[in-house]
Amino acid sequence: VTDTSPNPIVTTIIDGASVARRIRAAVQDAVAHDTAAGERPPGLATILVGDDPASHVYVENKRRTARTLGIRDEHRALPATATQDEVAAVIDELAADDTVSGILLQLPLPPSLDADALLDRIPPEKDVDGLSTPSTGLLARNLPGLRPCTPSGVMRLLDDAGVDPAGKQAVVVGASHLVGLPMAQMLLNRDATVTTAHRRTSDLLAVTRTAEILVVAAGVPKLITRQHLTPGVTIIDVGINRTETGLVGDVDFEGAMGVARHITPVPGGVGPMTIAMLLENTLTAHRNQRAANAHRTNQGASA
Ligand code: NAD
Repeated sequence: VTDTSPNPIVTTIIDGASVARRIRAAVQDAVAHDTAAGERPPGLATILVGDDPASHVYVENKRRTARTLGIRDEHRALPATATQDEVAAVIDELAADDTVSGILLQLPLPPSLDADALLDRIPPEKDVDGLSTPSTGLLARNLPGLRPCTPSGVMRLLDDAGVDPAGKQAVVVGASHLVGLPMAQMLLNRDATVTTAHRRTSDLLAVTRTAEILVVAAGVPKLITRQHLTPGVTIIDVGINRTETGLVGDVDFEGAMGVARHITPVPGGVGPMTIAMLLENTLTAHRNQRAANAHRTNQGASA
């Protein structure tokens, strides 16, 4: 098709795999630097309850990547029959362990467990998934804290693409506690004008057409088509859907070509960023705890 518009848009594909590789390399360098100086490495503790095959794969992937970067890997596997008290006891034990910098409770949990109560047992300084109530509050107040990994990864991709959210119309499709809600808050904290769309939004097309930045996290293949887009939009596709033809996102990727200014592919966009941000959070948690310990020791010495 010949584009007859005066300024045809060339769509740039955002390479999340390469940005994630740079972040992992920086974490690895920092860990190597610290351990060479005689410091203890960061430790990431993962907790897996039950035997959901997908969760198993996700946790293994996180653990393997952590080890590759020199982060200590601590793992607790509990049966699907584990009680609330048993999982809580494991969290408490890891919370008290100085060699554990971050605690990750893999979701979803068996329905018999109260996931929110267990997430809130993780001390904020070790909440590397950033999903507890205190971490959510720190994000809402735009105060320092550990942030949820997937939306942090999206912000990094925007930064890397040179897209500054300040003053822009941003639309987030999806309002989950895991992705959509913290995503909207992070964009707001960076001075975007943010609209959140969800399952009950009556005219999705009208909303998405206002977007200069469009983040889609609905879990619906091809929810967003060419007609949902305004020329020049930056699209971040968080969706991961398993179809007969393989993994696809929530956006009709081909349809966005020549309309979007930037777009992330699936796979190879946001996916690799999520683990990279988890490991960066683990390093951050570790360094914050070390600084807090040094501060306490100094105060003790001068008391
Ligand atoms: P979720 O099911 O908890 O939430 C989906 C949200 O999308 C809800 O707020 C819902 O109202 C909204 N929604 C659903 N259908 C809609 C529609 N037709 N129109 C408008 N809004 C609609 O899912 P989630 O955990 O937030 O994940 C969303 C997607 O992101 C999934 O595909 C998931 O696999 C993917 N995901 C990817 C990563 C990553 O690392 N790339 C991480 C987490 C989730």
